[in-house]
Amino acid sequence: MLVARARAVCPALADAPVVERWAGVRPRASTRAPLMGVWPGKPGQFVFNGGFKIGFAMAPVLAEVMADLVLDGVDRIPAEFRLLTGPKL
Ligand SMILES: Cc1cc2nc3c(=O)[nH]c(=O)nc-3n(C[C@H](O)[C@H](O)[C@H](O)COP(=O)(O)OP(=O)(O)OC[C@H]3O[C@@H](n4cnc5c(N)ncnc54)[C@H](O)[C@@H]3O)c2cc1C
Repeated sequence: MLVARARAVCPALADAPVVERWAGVRPRASTRAPLMGVWPGKPGQFVFNGGFKIGFAMAPVLAEVMADLVLDGVDRIPAEFRLLTGPKL
């Protein structure tokens, strides 16, 4: 749909191949807080997403928190960022 619209607006693109797709959607979880932790039912797999509008600032410290969990099994995840137990809207 988007590609068709772009081609309609700009006929020069009619035969141009799509070289890349990117949604460009901010990663927001059910709240505005990041979402992180062990993926339930998927041993050895983890979730770390939902940075939304604070992801840039929080990335360094949350990466350390996540590394502690993944590498050493040390859980320092803030309660409000915890998978499945964070506050609901
Ligand atoms: C459209 C959009 C808008 C956003 N707007 C904002 C905003 O306004 N403000 C804000 O604070 N946050 C915003 N965010 C969120 C923010 O971008 C993220 O929270 C933040 O970039 C997370 O940083 P990160 O270093 O954890 O991960 P990333 O920035 O995703 O970096 C991970 C890096 O690891 C690389 N990588 C992945 N796998 C491998 C591998 N196996 N080997 C080597 N390299 C690998 C990737 O290529 C990437 O460079 C936005 C995100 C999106 C998508």
